[in-house]
Amino acid sequence: SIPLGYFAGVGGLSKRGVLVKGGNYLEVLKNLNTIIFDKTGTLTEGVFEVVEIKTYNGISEDEILEIAAYAEEHSNHPIADSIKKKYGKNFEKNFIEDYEEISGHGIKAKIKGKDVLVGNKKLMDKFNIRIPEINFNGTIVFVSVDGMFVGYIGISDKIKPGIKEVIKELKKLGVKKTVMLTGDNKKVAEDVAKKIGIDEYFAELLPGDKVKFFEKYNDGISTAFVGDGINDAPVLTRADVGIAMGGLGSDAAIEAADVVIMDDDVSKLIDSIKVSRKTMKITW
Ligand code: ADP
Ligand code: MG
Repeated sequence: SIPLGYFAGVGGLSKRGVLVKGGNYLEVLKNLNTIIFDKTGTLTEGVFEVVEIKTYNGISEDEILEIAAYAEEHSNHPIADSIKKKYGKNFEKNFIEDYEEISGHGIKAKIKGKDVLVGNKKLMDKFNIRIPEINFNGTIVFVSVDGMFVGYIGISDKIKPGIKEVIKELKKLGVKKTVMLTGDNKKVAEDVAKKIGIDEYFAELLPGDKVKFFEKYNDGISTAFVGDGINDAPVLTRADVGIAMGGLGSDAAIEAADVVIMDDDVSKLIDSIKVSRKTMKITW
């Protein structure tokens, strides 16, 4: 039998910019127990902005920005984009000899013959670079040159407007638990989780850790994952319903997802659940 009602549901949602890749996902959306969100690009805009530059050990702000920009030249990460935007100049050729983007960590490169690291605390720990305690409420990009910490770039992202209300409404619709996973630092994670009312959060995760934490909550029938797709395609695939942001999201994510929210507006989750509940299983 063909569940006719599904066509109306899928069609109605597509008019609202939500692509549902099969009627069975409407069944999952009807009774979600747990929704797990990726932070960057899903709950936050994913558009980073450099708001602070601090230097140590005799280097200037212009110098550290130039080093970081060159290190990030070949990266498409939103953090890389913000640093290149702040730098604002064209790149000269042949500055970079070696280049490696380490997933969930940052960049390791040789620039003008110097060993440069640009990334998070995990990256600094990996290469035994000693860093001081830093008081900055945002994403911190540490920079080291030839094994010495030379300063950091403070970057901030914004929570998407209306997210707090979306989380509240999801609870009203019967969702029992909301969880946030992120590769970002604990301070940022705590701040975002508190501001929007997420039940639980886990920070400083590597892309592989996201799968592990997802599995902690996965009941195999009513668990959703919502992500922007940068590094989270494996989780999107495992979820009972994997929901991707279509605007910022990568092509890989759109392919891995079961539901795509084309304009990245998370409030469309609410519409999707409501439509799924109205959609009756009319069969012939
Ligand atoms: P998420 O999408 O959950 O924030 P990612 O796995 O994309 O996580 O990144 C996790 C962390 O790794 C970032 O918050 C940042 O600290 C660091 N990082 C990743 N890529 C870069 C990069 N190109 N430059 C600097 N830091 C990076
Ligand atoms: Mg991400």
